[in-house]
Amino acid sequence: MIPCPICGKHFKNKQALRAHLRFCKGRIQKQSDEIYFKALALDLIMYVRKTKKSKFDTSELAKKLGISSKTAEEFIEWLKKSKYYELLRFVLKCAQKQS
Ligand SMILES: [Zn+2]
Repeated sequence: MIPCPICGKHFKNKQALRAHLRFCKGRIQKQSDEIYFKALALDLIMYVRKTKKSKFDTSELAKKLGISSKTAEEFIEWLKKSKYYELLRFVLKCAQKQS
C-alpha cells in the first residue's frame, strides 16, 4: 500500500496513486482558493462599507485588494456564486442608508 502524500489515503500501486493525485491536488487547490477568496471578500466588504461604492471595474478591484486582474476576475466570479455576495449587498445597503 502506498499513501497519498497530500491526503494520506492508501493505494494499491503507483498507478492508482498517480491517478488519484491529479484529483487530490486539484481539490487542495480549490480549497485554498476558497480560503483566499473568503479573506478577500471580507476586505471587499470593509471597503464597500467605507466607500459606499456599488460598482467596481476589475482593475480597480485588483488594485484595492492588491491582487492581479486575473485573480480579481476569478474572485468576482466566485463571489457572485457565494453567500458573501448577499452579505456584501446587505452591508452596502446599510451603509447607503446611513448617509
Ligand atoms: Zn490524496
